[in-house]
Amino acid sequence: MTSGRDNMFGSMMNTPMTIGQILEHASNIHGDKHVHTLLPNGKIHRYNYTTLHRRVNQLSNATESLGINPGDRVATFVSNTYQHLELYYAIPNIGAIIHPLNVQLSPIQLKKIVNDAENNIIFVDNIYADQFANLQNKIGCKHTILINNTNQDITHQDCSFEYERFISDEDRTYSPDIPDENCSMALCYTSGTNGEPKGVLYTHRSMYLHTMAVNHTDVFGLTESDVVMPIVPMYHVMAWGLPYATMLSGAELVLHGSSQDNIVDLICETGVTVAAGVPSVWKKHLPEMINRKHEINTLNKIIVGGEAMPMSLIEVFEKELGIEVRHAWGMTEMSPTGTLCRLRKAHEKHSDEEKLNIKAMQGRPIPGVQIRLMNGTMDILPWDGNSVGELQVRSPWTVSSYYNTEPSLEHFTEDGWLRTGDLATINSEGYVQIVDRMKSLIRSGGESISTVQLETCLSIHPQVIEAVVIGVPNDQWGERPIAVVVLATKTEEDITEILKQHLANEFPNFWIPDRFVYVDEIPKTSVGKTDKQAIIRRILTS
Ligand code: AMP
Repeated sequence: MTSGRDNMFGSMMNTPMTIGQILEHASNIHGDKHVHTLLPNGKIHRYNYTTLHRRVNQLSNATESLGINPGDRVATFVSNTYQHLELYYAIPNIGAIIHPLNVQLSPIQLKKIVNDAENNIIFVDNIYADQFANLQNKIGCKHTILINNTNQDITHQDCSFEYERFISDEDRTYSPDIPDENCSMALCYTSGTNGEPKGVLYTHRSMYLHTMAVNHTDVFGLTESDVVMPIVPMYHVMAWGLPYATMLSGAELVLHGSSQDNIVDLICETGVTVAAGVPSVWKKHLPEMINRKHEINTLNKIIVGGEAMPMSLIEVFEKELGIEVRHAWGMTEMSPTGTLCRLRKAHEKHSDEEKLNIKAMQGRPIPGVQIRLMNGTMDILPWDGNSVGELQVRSPWTVSSYYNTEPSLEHFTEDGWLRTGDLATINSEGYVQIVDRMKSLIRSGGESISTVQLETCLSIHPQVIEAVVIGVPNDQWGERPIAVVVLATKTEEDITEILKQHLANEFPNFWIPDRFVYVDEIPKTSVGKTDKQAIIRRILTS
């Protein structure tokens, strides 16, 4: 006789959910499907998932033979290419952790991140050779492996191996042995709430479940007949998980290399059906897409996120180009997908304007994600479409603590929800609308810029008494920073140029404020805090 306790656990197989299974499925079931990569010389490199699998095995063997152990962090400084895709699988398959570096960051920022992650080995794309030269002497990586898609002579470059040589003599078979689905597989850094880099360590389980969730029909909805192009860099939250989602669904994958200039050509040449990118990418390419409307008629859906997609842009894409816009919200901390916006059946009879209003929202939580709103006194707020509170989330693919850091109440609630730092409303149907940000970050072209870090750096300049950085709306980039500065003394020098140079020593170009405004004093609130809203009002009306 069995007791209730005996039946407490079911008798189903507990096979671990691993990244290796995605690759195995793609290669066994969809082995003839292709990865297309745009090379720097304008040609397209193509191979199928069976070949990819074989090369991943060779790369796993080669990396292991360098002495890389489970749990070691392996950095990549690589564009969207088939080699980066190989690393996406080969590193997790040996139990190690792939750590894609954001090539847009400054050498000082990258040094901090590489040191925090204790990277010993780095794969570098030759297209970024100049940027890497500024970083290489600042970090202590033992091995540098150079991926050379440029066909340039690399004999003078300081590297341990050239990628093709590194893998060429290796065994073509490899059996991944991941003991537990909760083993880590990838590490991505984010700006958190104040710009201080924080690592998010994904597990095989979290990434596998995220992949299954985004493959829902009402989420990314990829199918075997799709051709998918993530225009999101592969260093940004694992290209929103699209390489994994694409291959699990059996679709073809298109990688655009390092430049976004030719994406319309690429859509035409490879027959892309689904593409994903931040609003500024779509805004930039819209005129060309309209001009070449009939050439890009395979494209039926774009996935947009990273910042709010303007309603006017959604309207042009849907009405003029006949391309469905799926507006998503998420964070590095959420692998990244949290919510996605699609109309419900109940909206069929709505007017076009009402539909557009809904489509510009960030959408409803995808299956597996729980959301709630909380105010400053820790009250849970109603889903009435009016109450504004901090959006808090929970899911199997949401971080529970930052890398090497104890969870703090600044980032997590006492009952274990992630505090997103986004202010939102939720309506009775569960649609989230982001209305503001609690964090001191500006979103520009889908990337974060820390106002606190810029202010701190400006304030240590001897000619500055006080500085405040604010974000103002910008047509092309969503938002751009403006610095408002109180100077110690009036000067004949070109102080703006001097301050720009001062910031450029530490931060990447896209962080440098577009304008410097000099004032006698910074407006303060009644409790003596900087009144950013008053500054923004003054700047926008001046
Ligand atoms: P990251 O971790 O760099 O991807 O940045 C995540 C942050 O980007 C979120 O917390 C939001 O502030 C912002 N974000 C992402 N998607 C959207 C969206 N669709 N609308 C508005 N803000 C967004």
